[in-house]
Amino acid sequence: MSSYGDAEAGEGETLYYGIKKRPVYYVCMRCGFKVTKEELEAMPAYMCPRCGYRIFMKVRAPPSLGYLRRVYAI
Ligand SMILES: [Zn+2]
Repeated sequence: MSSYGDAEAGEGETLYYGIKKRPVYYVCMRCGFKVTKEELEAMPAYMCPRCGYRIFMKVRAPPSLGYLRRVYAI
């Protein structure tokens, strides 16, 4: 099982150094709708396409292994 963890760690490092531009998401503080930066910039105003709320929480995909493992578990 420990070898599996090592493989996962190596994969994470490759991902972190291989991708220069990390994906950035914005999560609506009201309804939790997740939009990408590109989708927001394509709109006339920074607002939630679902509920129209204009306060977002910026979420960047972190390179931390803990986060990757958590996603894997789901
Ligand atoms: Zn919303």
